[in-house]
Amino acid sequence: MAGGLTRKEGRIDTVGRMAPSPTGRMHLGNVYACLAAWLGVRSQGPSGILRLRIEDIDGPRVVPDADRWIMDDLDWLGLDWDGPVVYQSERGQDYERALQRLERQHLPDGQPLVYPCFCSRADIRAASAPNEGDGFTIYPGTCHGLPGSVVRERLSQGRRHSLRIAVPSRPEDAEAIRRFDDRVFGTQSFNLPEEVGDVVIRRSDGLFSYQLAVSVDDLAMGVNQVVRGRDLLRSTAIQSWIRAHLQPDPPDVEYVHLPLIDGMDGRRMSKRFGSPDMGSLKEHGWQARQVIGVCGWLLGLLDRPRPAHPQELLHGFTWNILASKRQDRRLDPEEFLSRSEV
Ligand code: GLU
Repeated sequence: MAGGLTRKEGRIDTVGRMAPSPTGRMHLGNVYACLAAWLGVRSQGPSGILRLRIEDIDGPRVVPDADRWIMDDLDWLGLDWDGPVVYQSERGQDYERALQRLERQHLPDGQPLVYPCFCSRADIRAASAPNEGDGFTIYPGTCHGLPGSVVRERLSQGRRHSLRIAVPSRPEDAEAIRRFDDRVFGTQSFNLPEEVGDVVIRRSDGLFSYQLAVSVDDLAMGVNQVVRGRDLLRSTAIQSWIRAHLQPDPPDVEYVHLPLIDGMDGRRMSKRFGSPDMGSLKEHGWQARQVIGVCGWLLGLLDRPRPAHPQELLHGFTWNILASKRQDRRLDPEEFLSRSEV
């Protein structure tokens, strides 16, 4: 168990998590997601626990000290968490054990569940259909089902390879469809071979992938409420496939995927203010209550951006309020940061 936690005074029904990646300072989009995760748990009173997991699995992208900035900013905003902080970078042994468990399994057609993939990125790009904008490239299956002799030969030559988890190979296979209910977007259904494909669980540089790490961590930490951007809807389908192979009958999870905030995640830069992250907001004199108020408004909990403490947003909070407004939000950072009424 990753940093186990129980409350003395009673039953725990909801375990949520904030799971920022320490690749820099938080943007408004990250705060919006953390606020939603916080509200989802804190609205449950003492029967809810909110964990903080620093997703620093992708070493090369991690910015030194960004974990501290994130914790300081969360503190400043009044978004508290329970128990020790979990760092993915310290959980390699658990990921290794999970990989071994997956490697022992086979699909109903006898193919191994995990197989080495020798394709380069360029090979995959050349052979794949264009992705749908969530960065998901469906692996064309080139190395799936390579004869054992070929695999052994390539491995003995020390050929660079990643490891992939196989999904059912035919769309009509009984297991191919993964269904889950999302609190905002409703019932979701993904056909794994058609819409997701075999994903990497260990990269060719030896690092475990996001998909494996998150699946292992959410199970180990007992997470049963996952709040994150709707760009990860497809990831939920593959994570449910991985979970099912890590543990028989894994516990149900309440999924809440949020509309995205266009223009506030750092993708689009603002000329005058730079990217509107927590650093630039503070430099421009923003107070914590203003940042929370804007995020509460983006979540649909306030009718206009006005200063608010996270506690105030708990009154009457339900996911239904979010579900009534599913379209992505669009904001012009420049125009937004210079607004005077906030
Ligand atoms: N670490 C991811 C992020 O910062 C979140 C992943 C997740 O919630 O599963 O966007």
